[in-house]
Amino acid sequence: MNSPRVNNLRITIAAPCYNEEAAIEMFLNALTHVCLQLEARSYDVTILMIDDGSSDRTLEIVNKYAALDRRVRTASFSRNFGHQAAVAAAIDLAEADALIIMDSDMQHPPECILEMVSSWEAGYEIVSMVRKETAAQTFLKKITSRIFYRLFNVLCETKIMDGATEFFLLDAAPLQAARSLPEYHQFWRGIISWIGFRRIFIDYSASKRVAGRSKYSAHKMIHLAFDGLTSFSARPMKLVIGLGLLTITLSFLYLLYILFAALFLRSIVPGWSSLIVVVIFFGGIQMATIGIVGAYIGKIFEQVKQRPKYILTKAPNSRSAHQ
Ligand code: UDP
Ligand code: MG
Repeated sequence: MNSPRVNNLRITIAAPCYNEEAAIEMFLNALTHVCLQLEARSYDVTILMIDDGSSDRTLEIVNKYAALDRRVRTASFSRNFGHQAAVAAAIDLAEADALIIMDSDMQHPPECILEMVSSWEAGYEIVSMVRKETAAQTFLKKITSRIFYRLFNVLCETKIMDGATEFFLLDAAPLQAARSLPEYHQFWRGIISWIGFRRIFIDYSASKRVAGRSKYSAHKMIHLAFDGLTSFSARPMKLVIGLGLLTITLSFLYLLYILFAALFLRSIVPGWSSLIVVVIFFGGIQMATIGIVGAYIGKIFEQVKQRPKYILTKAPNSRSAHQ
């Protein structure tokens, strides 16, 4: 095993948690074990738990743990702001030479942390974990996720790797870069690709959730996918312009045919059905177009409001408070 580059570098391991009362204790125990190994390598480790407005006992359990273990710090939101906002909070609040973000349901195996840190020691500034084994995923989730990554990579200049989710290590420089982005809609797996830096991908196999169930409902997944796409590409808007132009051309050609048929073939029967088909077709295209344009305007609206991405009811306690 490599030795640390410099002694007493600070590593923060941050985990968003939302209604994870059944899993959180096992997660913290596993993390403590990893901390001991990192401390043996002379690192100063902090665990930062971001409670995303849980309505169960998650925060209570984490606070209890924090009272006993000086490594553990907690921050909590005033309501559920979502996983991406919790990652944003971790990035804003971490005071570290390296920040590791991971899920708190044990689907991101804590033992991977040691390998991540070794890659950081080797000089990589971003270490992205890529989920290879997908035993924990349902067939539907696998398929829809694959379609999403394909679509994203076709539409967006920034490329993301299938399976590279919010499980990564950031060195201080990319951490500062990620923190400086003022956008309201932060789609982290895209941003991590976008900011650049020396990056390494490491495969891991995701285990099943130890307890509780996924907080990413189908609705939240669709929302995340749409948000991700529209944050990284204006191409859908351009595509609908292309679609609009194409249908105008087709309808113009159809008009020419009708004129030709009426003047020379005299075979035109006033047809209600063809008329209504055309009306519905164009109505649909217009609605889709307005919808997509509206989605971007909505984003601009949310951005100009300059609302915070999350509201803290409790900022992380300083570590000295427990010493
Ligand atoms: N999470 C969160 N806020 C939410 C939804 C999820 O902080 O609104 C956390 C959750 O506690 C977990 C991580 O984000 O640590 C990933 O969520 P989940 O395991 O439910 O998603 P999945 O692994 O099923 O994609
Ligand atoms: Mg999970």
